Amino acid sequence: MDDFLKRKGELYCEDMPISKLVKIHGTPLYIYSRNTILSHYNKIKNAFAELNPLICYSVKANSNLTILRLLAEQGTGLDIVSQGELERGLAVKVPTRCMVYAGVGKTEKEIIAALRAGILMFNVESEPEARLINRVAQKMKTCAQVAFRINPDVDAKTHKYITTGKKENKFGLTIPLAMDLFRSTRRLKHIKPIGVHMHIGSQITSATPYLQAIRRMSKMIAELRREDFDIEYFNLGGGLGIIYNEERPQTANEFAQAVAPLIRPLKCKLILEPGRFIVGNAGILVTEVQYVKRGHLKSFAIVDAGMNDLIRPSLYGAFHQILPVISKRGGKTVLTDVVGPICESGDFLGKDRHLPNLESGDLLAVRSAGAYGMVMASNYNSRPRPAEVLVAGSKAKLIRKREIMAEVLAPELAMLKN
Ligand SMILES: *Cc1c(COP(=O)(O)O)cnc(C)c1O
Repeated sequence: MDDFLKRKGELYCEDMPISKLVKIHGTPLYIYSRNTILSHYNKIKNAFAELNPLICYSVKANSNLTILRLLAEQGTGLDIVSQGELERGLAVKVPTRCMVYAGVGKTEKEIIAALRAGILMFNVESEPEARLINRVAQKMKTCAQVAFRINPDVDAKTHKYITTGKKENKFGLTIPLAMDLFRSTRRLKHIKPIGVHMHIGSQITSATPYLQAIRRMSKMIAELRREDFDIEYFNLGGGLGIIYNEERPQTANEFAQAVAPLIRPLKCKLILEPGRFIVGNAGILVTEVQYVKRGHLKSFAIVDAGMNDLIRPSLYGAFHQILPVISKRGGKTVLTDVVGPICESGDFLGKDRHLPNLESGDLLAVRSAGAYGMVMASNYNSRPRPAEVLVAGSKAKLIRKREIMAEVLAPELAMLKN
């Protein structure tokens, strides 16, 4: 599953001891394994080899430039959702013809930037957005390639905050609305529909909701073709689930084998947008125990990473395995809540964990923090954001400097001078 394994009681990332990285870079610290990233990318690539898809890595899962460059070197495209993510893609020289742009709130400025860059297509999420893109493209004397994002109204059976393909969600268009929009593009001369897009949610552990959605979309594609629309691309989105604890997600192979029979007859170029699947298991957040408060029922290990560094437990009640970086000998385990220093009761990394008797100074690894971790970090409580390190074998590279207090304060300090 990943390259974070214990050797003689000490946690390593590939061939690098975690404790050594902490000595150099301090805590809280995000550490990623190059090999885990590449092996997950290759799992998807190989599983779908027969369909030769365009794999557009979903930048929002982990947008560190060094990680984007690593994936770009493998030939991935990008799934972007903002001008900022476009800039990241440009910074690491991803061909813009391999970028697809989703998101419900694209602004005029963002649409201009994406058209200027020459992205492959917009994944359009509403009728007013289609009209705006048409208007902007007209002004720029060009034609924007688009796919319409369909909300197929299926239940992906995942957390309600990360389900996106039900009719009550803000994403995409119902099939009848999308059909109407396709027809209206006969009048909107500056957008050219070239495909359909779906993305039904995240951390989806079974192929069933995908199959349901693809069947609905296949019927729609057939109808569109009867009306002479040229549907070149089928974008299946992302959402593949990973193991955080006891999940038994489909493997990439099982997923590919399940969906391929439905995709093949569509005769479309397939686009995939994996995010979490590629980077989720490839990162840990390392934190140091500051204090241990022992209570009657349980202990609280107060650590130096909080919800501002990793918000998934607070935001989604997400489970991340937590283990000591150096195994402790003997003794019983203690029921422990691992909590951060932030002044919020929702600030925890793990609850009711059976951990050894911890002491201040112990290091803990919060596992599978590679996706939706650092990208969601904030400065809440005026805390500078963590550093990030990428390990390859016995080598490690700092890929984001730890933020310093001066950087946090600068935009406001400047205003005091007025
Ligand atoms: C977030 C997102 C993805 C990636 O989702 P994962 O669950 O990380 O695979 C793919 N496509 C779109 C449109 C997204 O918004």
